[in-house]
This record gives sequence, C-alpha cells and structure tokens, in this order.
Amino acid sequence: MLKDWFAGVKKGTSQEIIAEKYYTTAVKKYDAIIAGAGPAGATAAYFMAREGMDVLLLERGPYPGAKTCGGSSIIAEHVHKLFPNFWEELEYERLISHQAYWIMTEDDAIQIAYRSTRLSDAPYNRFSVRRVKLYEWLVKKATAAGATVRFNHHVSEILYEGNQAVGVRISKPQDCIYVANIIILADGANSLLAEKAGLSRRVSAHDLSLYAKETIALPAEVIEERFSLPAGHGAIIGLIGYPTAGFNGTASIHTFRTSININVGLAVADIAQAGITPHDLIDRLKAHQYIKPLIKDGITTEYGANVIPEGGYFSIPELVHPGSMIIGDAASLVNGVHGFSLAMWSGFFAAQAASKAKKHRDFSVKFLRLYQQLLDESFVMQDLRANAPQAKWLRDVPYFFDLYSRVANEAAYHITKVYTIPKKAKRHYIFKKITSMQPIGKMLKDAWSFLKVIR
Ligand SMILES: Cc1cc2nc3c(=O)[nH]c(=O)nc-3n(C[C@H](O)[C@H](O)[C@H](O)COP(=O)(O)OP(=O)(O)OC[C@H]3O[C@@H](n4cnc5c(N)ncnc54)[C@H](O)[C@@H]3O)c2cc1C
Repeated sequence: MLKDWFAGVKKGTSQEIIAEKYYTTAVKKYDAIIAGAGPAGATAAYFMAREGMDVLLLERGPYPGAKTCGGSSIIAEHVHKLFPNFWEELEYERLISHQAYWIMTEDDAIQIAYRSTRLSDAPYNRFSVRRVKLYEWLVKKATAAGATVRFNHHVSEILYEGNQAVGVRISKPQDCIYVANIIILADGANSLLAEKAGLSRRVSAHDLSLYAKETIALPAEVIEERFSLPAGHGAIIGLIGYPTAGFNGTASIHTFRTSININVGLAVADIAQAGITPHDLIDRLKAHQYIKPLIKDGITTEYGANVIPEGGYFSIPELVHPGSMIIGDAASLVNGVHGFSLAMWSGFFAAQAASKAKKHRDFSVKFLRLYQQLLDESFVMQDLRANAPQAKWLRDVPYFFDLYSRVANEAAYHITKVYTIPKKAKRHYIFKKITSMQPIGKMLKDAWSFLKVIR
C-alpha cells in the first residue's frame, strides 16, 4: 500500500516532496507512530520514549483532550503504579471519599452509600479529574520523556508493505505521510482506523453505548454542603433504574471542584429502538425530585456526548498484527465504565512489547505478541474475562434494571410504612405485592443469572 501511495503521487504536490525524500534522502523513520493522544496513546508514548525510542504521537485535535467533555474519575492505585505519586503533579479535582448507589423509580430511591476518611489516605482510592487536565498532563509527560507530539494531525489510514504496517497517512490540510517500524492504534472507541485496515469488525450497536454528559457549575462550598463532604472531598453516585427509562444502562453523578457532572448512557441499539435521545434522558433526570435540589441554581457550562465500547471480552479484536498493535478503547478494553486505567495499562504493555521488538530489530508479531501476553496476565484481561458474559446477559434480561428497581423500591416502601396489621400478615402482603410484579420463579431465575455474571 505504501508503494501504491508513492506511485499515485501527483507531480508538484507536497506529497511528491515527501515521496521524493522517502526514496532519495530517506524521510525520517520513527521507531513508533501512535495515532491518538488519549490516555492510551500518551501513556504508550511516554513509556516508549523513556526506553529511548523515537516516538511520534499524532492527535487530530488542536490540543490534548480537545475532543472530550467534562470530567471523570480515575482509580488512584492503577495510575500510581504507572506514575508513582501522580497526585503531586496531576491537577485533580476532588479526592473521592463518598461512593453511593441510588436505585430509583419516579417516586422513590433506595440509597446505599459508603463514606470513609480511610479512603483519603495515600495512595488514596479515586480522584475526580477534568478530562482535559488528565490528557494534557499525560501528553506533557510523553513530551518531557522525548516523544514528538503533533496536533491537528488526523490519521486517515495505516499504510502497508505486504501485510506489514509501515506508516500512516495524514488527511488534509497536512496531507502527508509518516513512516515507522511500529504503528499503534489508540484512536478511541469505534476505531475507524482498525476497521478501515481490516483489523477489526464494525462495532455492533449493541456493544457501543452512547453517553450524554452535562457539566453544571456550582460554588465549591455549595457542592460540599449538598453532598455532605469535607472540604476538597468528592462523591460519586451511580444511578440505577429511572435514569435509563426502562432500559439497561447506567447513569452517574460526579463532583468536581466547582461543578457537577451528570451523565446517562444506553446502548446505541436501544437508543435507536426507543427513539429517545440521550439529552432527553439527562433533562428527565435533572427534573427528578431527588436530583433537582442537588443542581439547584447551577449553570450548565459544558454539554457533550461520547461513545464507550461496552461489548466486553468477546468484542475485543485481535490486538497484535505485523508492525501494529491496538490499545485502549480502540481495542474495546473497557470494563463497565472503567476505561482510563485499562487504556493506560494497555499503553504501558504495548510500550514493553515495542521496546523488545526494537532491541531485536524484528517488528513482526514475534516480539509484539508480548503485548497480548502481558495484557492477558494482568488485571485488565483477567477482569474482562471474568465479566465476559455480562454484555450478553444485559441483552438477554433487558428489563432487569428497570423492573428490579421497581420491585426493590416497592418492597422498601411497604417495609418502611407502618400498618395496623400483624407483622406476619404484613410480610405475606409484601410478598404478594412484589410477586404480582414478577412471578417468583422468574425472579429467582433472574437473580441466579445475575449472580452468575457478577464477579
Ligand atoms: C461519558 C463518559 C464517561 C466516562 N467516565 C469514565 C470514568 O469515570 N472513569 C474511567 O476510567 N473511564 C471513563 N470513561 C471511559 C474513558 O473515557 C475511556 O475508556 C478512555 O478515555 C479511553 O482512552 P483512549 O486513549 O483509548 O481513547 P480516547 O480517550 O478516546 O482518546 C483517543 C484520542 O485519539 C484521538 N483520535 C481519534 N481518532 C484519531 C485519528 N484518526 N487521528 C488522530 N487522532 C485521533 C482523539 O481525538 C482522542 O484524543 C468514560 C467515557 C465516557 C464516554
């Protein structure tokens, strides 16, 4: 494909100059090119540069994280093991010491919460971070380690000689190519690069969730008061049932220094079937009687939507190919909504493999396969493998979150309410009530299937 590209070069264009250089003065050949400067790509660039490799990190956006919105949470231990004491450098937002789940219906909410000051001791548990700050920090680390970073560089294609990846093409206005011994695809969810190169199949609409996210600004003290937080601490609340309007999906609230993020996500296939839009779901959730007071007088400062690959283990494509590797979301390495750690660790493992391949001057799959091996032995693949049946289960029991949120809240309501009947009769009454919502046999079957996929 690279030869074809040179053959097709038009006279007098910038392409011709590059083609000319490549054949005569030999255009600079990098050890590795990475497409995408997200957490996966920037981590890979950092560790390769640290090993003395000549690395080119290409990002389509004008700056790190330009295509992202709002914030998320990172798992401290996972990042600390790659970047020791990272909290001393990364400008994080809040230290998460309060985690909760709300199982909701229109009228009710069972709230299960855990808070502990023990979660605020180093090496900590989770931090909320603004995405753009995380991306910026990682790219800075990669640059400081020696990687070359180019923004406004949209990689449109992987170039091949035979089946060996040898370069990338950058779309207009740059309209150029770069060559390297190893090409790493880190272009995020629904990787068009991998699909175009025939390295992965088109991601199914069942395996891709669309998340809408809104950032609502509020003063720091107001956030701390509303969520009962010590100064500087943060909360994450997972919301189940009501927010996803009858479908299996997830929603959450994250607190940042001076803002709150609300996000709701559903499988793209469900969104298409229901004819709803994710921003309808956000508006519906914001109007809920238990959410409204948390965001009262807040000002919406950002709004965005993004996809997450949620097909799990069975949707992971072949990750190692002659001269190339796929990492992060592009490789569907997401477990639940946890993707940052998996992206960063996959970048780290790919860097180990690339470094070994460089030492042996062999860029076939022989040494690059180390990436797959390290991934398989790590928590990344072990957890993904353990949770493998989840994606199918969510499709097989599409009513699970909605129905059982209602059942649980119905039971909680009657347990809480005081009646003038004896306790034994009350228990019988509650049993009758909830089994009228779903027959007991079906309930036990669903509970058993749930227990089998929760690991
Ligand atoms: C709403 C939402 C909330 C989330 N919350 C969390 C959370 O709280 N915790 C968590 O761990 N994970 C969370 N995730 C998942 C997490 O964001 C991803 O798993 C993670 O960002 C994956 O990193 P990545 O580097 O593989 O891909 P990305 O972060 O998507 O980065 C890919 C980069 O490649 C660039 N790019 C794409 N195509 C090209 C191209 N052709 N050429 C050049 N550059 C290109 C993009 O601009 C981008 O900068 C969330 C995801 C969403 C959508």
